[in-house]
Amino acid sequence: MTETELRDMICEVGRRMYEKDMVAATDGNISARLGPNRFLCTPSGVSKGFMHPSDLIIANGQGEKITGNGRVTTEFFTHLAAYEERPDIEAVVHGHPPMATALMIAGHGMAEPVIPELVMALGTIPTAAYATPGSREGSGVIRDLIRRHDAVLIDRHGAVTVGASPLDAYFKLEKVEHSALIYWAAHALGNVRILDDTQVARLRQSGSNYHEQSDLA
Ligand SMILES: [Zn+2]
Repeated sequence: MTETELRDMICEVGRRMYEKDMVAATDGNISARLGPNRFLCTPSGVSKGFMHPSDLIIANGQGEKITGNGRVTTEFFTHLAAYEERPDIEAVVHGHPPMATALMIAGHGMAEPVIPELVMALGTIPTAAYATPGSREGSGVIRDLIRRHDAVLIDRHGAVTVGASPLDAYFKLEKVEHSALIYWAAHALGNVRILDDTQVARLRQSGSNYHEQSDLA
């Protein structure tokens, strides 16, 4: 993708995140890899629902601004941790999906395999340790988990998702929040049935086929 296409896509993802309540006010951030030491990222203190492509900042792998008008968000270090751990990814999205975050605050993670399509698409969703949002410590807590998972919750804070493009990473965030809504309703009804090991193994096996079948995705 060209830089222009990535700028447009990041703004579109920002609009969707804001409209879907994945963020409030100026929360959340989106980034994409432009080159070995160049990343396109959303600026700090700007609503992701109202961004113009020229609002985006280019930063380096140390989190320093190269070009752009705004400030690099402190949460960009969390994105950098994901890029460092995952050379295969091209984009990172961070938001505060309300239901997934509420599940964590109430002491329920999303690590149990409950929804087959979520297991196929993303496996289980682990929760990283609590850290002060925006702190350097916050960037460290996702490292181990993001190496093996495309979607990670951060305890009582939100979620980080990674993907082949900003839209791909955003769709994973949507899946997490949609699944959290189902988890919550199921917990409220009681008798949540967890998928057994054999069912999970089969789902994992068919996971790669799943990614190739857009009608299922
Ligand atoms: Zn945050």
